[in-house]
Amino acid sequence: MSDTELHYPFADPPAAASTIEVAPGVLWLRMPMPFPPGHINLWLIADGEGWALVDTGLATDVTRELWQSLLRRYRLTRLICTHFHHDHAGLAGWLCAGQGVGLAMPEAEYHALQDTWARTLAGIHRNDERDFFTAAGLPPATLSLAVASFRDGNFVSPPPATFTPLSDGDELAIGCHRWRVMTSGGHSPEHALLYCAELGVLIAGDQLLPRITPSVGLNLSNRLGDPLACWMAAMQVLQNLPAATLVLPSHQLPFIGARQRAARIAAYHHRQLASLARALTVAPASAYGLSQSLFTRLSNPVAELMAVSETLAHLRHLQLCRQAACYPGADGIIYWQAATQPVSLLQGS
Ligand SMILES: [Zn+2]
Repeated sequence: MSDTELHYPFADPPAAASTIEVAPGVLWLRMPMPFPPGHINLWLIADGEGWALVDTGLATDVTRELWQSLLRRYRLTRLICTHFHHDHAGLAGWLCAGQGVGLAMPEAEYHALQDTWARTLAGIHRNDERDFFTAAGLPPATLSLAVASFRDGNFVSPPPATFTPLSDGDELAIGCHRWRVMTSGGHSPEHALLYCAELGVLIAGDQLLPRITPSVGLNLSNRLGDPLACWMAAMQVLQNLPAATLVLPSHQLPFIGARQRAARIAAYHHRQLASLARALTVAPASAYGLSQSLFTRLSNPVAELMAVSETLAHLRHLQLCRQAACYPGADGIIYWQAATQPVSLLQGS
């Protein structure tokens, strides 16, 4: 996907344990990750005598050491996590306990973080989740390898016992500016973005990345919903932001061009839906089989699992539009085929 319409005001990221001011009172820092994309961007917002932190980095020794250095210069006043994924909230408990600050995050994200921690502690992957992906056709060997690499990760510290819930539309006073909370499902249950109209800045988390199309997945817990529709609604909202908005994404470089980027991501999903709808008219297939033709560069078992999850999100949407139907095969795998009487749920689809 071309990103030629995007403008990158900062050519280089901050060095380890350093910061770059990207807007008045908003600092950019980075933490490393031992897997792609290799880093996460974090943000400090001037907050009176100290700094409000957005997201934490993974719970690794390397990240903890970098934080020790940064915390000598920056006193934290509070922690805000955009969503529960390890790179965003893995060190929430460690930072809150060590710095005596509170955590704010959307309620569904906090409970997902607690659930992730409980599973990490028990060293288990839920069997019902395993069954869910087996029924989608993912080969057992691939599933076992993917589960093993999640288990090896252990990138989360014990979450704080309490939190302040953030809801869509909340206004947060941080220092001398107000930031509006915008939440959406699709990538995670209730992902939060922070938008400051006065500064013209959007802290986008994983919702809007300049060169990666964020994953949108169906899994055991959201399988009765329509995560793709949630995601597309969020892309629509982002296309209404002022054109000059500086987007601060969790990965890659800050950029200007929120509208174009959100439109491109939405167009990508429309194309995927169309490809899938065509494939369903050929022959019944499992979500795994369909994912293998939709995603051509799957390099490891985790990527294959995520591709199945995203294919399922698209299939679920087509099912709700009555363009797809599924039935259980004698082999225990769910097969998908075209259905008649389509209706359109997505704007423009
Ligand atoms: Zn994420």
